[in-house]
Amino acid sequence: MRFIDMHCDTFWLMMRKKGVSLQKNDLCIDIEKMQKAGSMAQFFASFIHMSQFEGVDALEEAYRHALAMIAHGKAELAKSSDEIAIAHNFDELIANRDKGKMSVVLTLEEGGILNGKMAYLEELYRQGIRLITLTWNHENCIGFPNSRDPELMKCGLKPFGVEVVGRMNALGMIIDVSHLSDGGFWDVVNYSSKPFVASHSNARTLCNHPRNLTDEMIKALAEKGGVTGVNFYPYFLRENGRATVTDIADHFWHIYQVGGEDVLAFGTDFDGFDEGELDISDIGEMNLVYDAVQKRGFSERQMDKILNGNILRVMQEQ
Ligand SMILES: [Zn+2]
Repeated sequence: MRFIDMHCDTFWLMMRKKGVSLQKNDLCIDIEKMQKAGSMAQFFASFIHMSQFEGVDALEEAYRHALAMIAHGKAELAKSSDEIAIAHNFDELIANRDKGKMSVVLTLEEGGILNGKMAYLEELYRQGIRLITLTWNHENCIGFPNSRDPELMKCGLKPFGVEVVGRMNALGMIIDVSHLSDGGFWDVVNYSSKPFVASHSNARTLCNHPRNLTDEMIKALAEKGGVTGVNFYPYFLRENGRATVTDIADHFWHIYQVGGEDVLAFGTDFDGFDEGELDISDIGEMNLVYDAVQKRGFSERQMDKILNGNILRVMQEQ
């Protein structure tokens, strides 16, 4: 039990394809495949695709849909409670591990569902959410998304977004800047009193996509004590979308060269993409990734940090 993955969209797919079991399924992640990967903890995102909701009540409906997705995920987890349990913090994660159980950290992707209401943030915390990806690929009440439009990319957090950062710091929820505009990223650097993460983002120097981080951003994230989770989406690994585990290892190596060994983590994004080519198909094949990353030149001690130590440190510091 060594591997922590900071991002997957499995709950979202399970919500779309009703009747899919979390214990065993045809998706990229299920409990049997997690056992095979040697999983210590999996972050499960409740992802809300805003274009699914229309009309005057769209945001309220999206919020209710998020609560339903969280409830559905919890109900599936409860069926496998001998093997897996929710961890609300570092101590609970370690306690689960000591009982031989894998952990789940509940997260939310698309802070727009807060609809400008701090009470909704408090409710999500009560529901067990411990990380929020502030934006997806749309403008929302918190800020602006990553974009190839330089004007949009420059936009920072909105006043409510600054409030959200403060409240998440106070509650001990991890702030996630993946998908956020560069301007928003720098505002989080300034406003967050705690280490934050890019749960599923790669290096823009190796693959020029606005979803990836520049070298300056990687350095700032490292100085802040945060981590970035290397994402397996082929178009974030390689511009032509044809990637292999060697590309995953190359992103780890570049991020290490720029930001050091304490900023490295995994954020597979499994079940969140179905485009491009990758030479592994699910989390059950993680052993091929571990081998490729280690072969790139990391020591056993550094592999421990990459696999779990860095994320555990960020959780401990919330
Ligand atoms: Zn995402």
